[in-house]
Order: sequence, then structure tokens, then C-alpha cells
Amino acid sequence: MKKVLTIAGSDSCGGAGIQADLKTFSAHGVYGMSIITAVTAQNTQGVFAVQDIDEDIIKAQIDAIFTDIEVDAVKIGMVSKPSTIYAIARQLEKYNPGNIVLDPVMISKSGYSLLQPESKQSLIKELLPKAFVITPNIPEAEEMLNAVTSEDIAIKTIEDMEQAAKEIYRLGPKNVLIKGGHMSGEAIDVLYDGQEITRFYSERINTKNTHGTGCTLSSAIASNLALGYSIKDAVSNAKRYITTAIEHSLEIGQGVGPTHHFY
Ligand code: PLP
Repeated sequence: MKKVLTIAGSDSCGGAGIQADLKTFSAHGVYGMSIITAVTAQNTQGVFAVQDIDEDIIKAQIDAIFTDIEVDAVKIGMVSKPSTIYAIARQLEKYNPGNIVLDPVMISKSGYSLLQPESKQSLIKELLPKAFVITPNIPEAEEMLNAVTSEDIAIKTIEDMEQAAKEIYRLGPKNVLIKGGHMSGEAIDVLYDGQEITRFYSERINTKNTHGTGCTLSSAIASNLALGYSIKDAVSNAKRYITTAIEHSLEIGQGVGPTHHFY
């Protein structure tokens, strides 16, 4: 069985973070493992508190896994603060796993900052070059480009997304997938692999229940890479998976409900 590791935050209501990642791994028939970087007190209405996990424990979790188990893909989600990022980066250098999917989680749909502002540069410098694929949404892509250019970059069209993917590619990841969910109309994602742009289309599903979609998509990509699919097929399969998961999203709680995981 293929083995996939998530390094991410815990979402107490089970819709995003580690919990969404593990559900996605199970639905793909891969064995899921988790390293928790932070614990959030969260429900469908918002994030109410966050406790970052000590970097020594993060390092120890990574040692525990890599000294014992072969890892076929790694998904990285919420990384909070610079010392967490450095700890993860040093450990990735030590064990050098392939198929690293980096979801540069910054702000939750409910508006809570899950990446401290001073962490942006560390994320770009320490984790981007190690990623096989990075999966920013439009606001995250804008934040990253603004951080490296000190300009006020706004992504408004599909052509802007393609240009942004090429610019983020220069920061070191092997592939860049910019998710177009924040634009109106069809949900179009753009992949740049250093040579060509590929567009992935899906219909927009009219629901408010989209909690955890970013976490789910990146975990589905990691699962598909572990299963041996190429990056284009992994993204295409993962997009189909997240579209179905949103179609069947759950009316749980009083806020933004979670997506539903099944194959
Ligand atoms: N909580 C945690 C721990 C996460 O990792 C994420 C991921 O993006 C979120 C919350 C945000 O989820 P969403 O913005 O989909 O509600």
C-alpha cells in the first residue's frame, strides 16, 4: 500500500487540516500518516484559538516516521510560524522525500490568519524550492508575489493566473497550480510545469459549504502522485475528486459546512 504523510494543522470540526487530509487519503486507498504543526479550536463558523506545536516535537514526529516507514508523498499545509517552517525544512533536507505537495495555507475562509505575516518570506525561501508542486489560490499567489516583488500584484484574469504561475515557478517549485476558485464563472485551475500551461476546467457548484476544499485538493494530489500518476493526471483526478466532494458537501453546523469524502 502507498503511504502518504500530511504535515499540517488540526481542525477540531474535522472539515479542514489534518482531518480532511486523512479522510482524503482513506478515500484514495492510500495509508495516511500525520504530523501536527498546530491545534486549532475551530467550527464551521470560525477559528477561535490556535496553539502551535513545539518545533522539537514536530522534528521528533518527522524522525519517528522517516526512520521507520517509506513515504511515497508528503502534503504540507498550515505551518504557522518561522521556527516551524525551519524545523520542517531541515528535516526534509535530512530525509529528502519525493512528491512534496505544498499548500501555502494563509487565511481561513472565515478570515483567521493561519500563517503569521512574518512567516511568508520563510515559506518562500525554505519550503517553495523543496515542493514538487505548490497549490496557491489566487489570494495566496498574490501574497507570495507581493512578498517577493514588493509590488501590489492583482490577479484578475486567467491570463494573470498563467503569468503568476510562471513567476512563482521561478521561486523553485517543480510545478505550480493556481486555483481559480476565487474568480467568478467556471472554476478554472492553471498548472505550469516549467514548459507548458495546462488549464483544468470544472463547473462551479453553487454551495456555501466549501470548508476544507484547499486541504482536500492538495491531499488528493499527493495521493495520486503516491499512486504513480503524472502531475497532470494527478491534478485532473484530484480536481474531479474535489468537485464531487463539494457537490456532496454537508450541511453541518451553522456556518460553512465541510466537503464530503468518498470515491
Ligand atoms: N484549519 C486548518 C488547520 C487548515 O489547515 C486550514 C486549511 O486551509 C483551514 C482551517 C482553512 O480551511 P478553509 O479555509 O477551507 O475553511
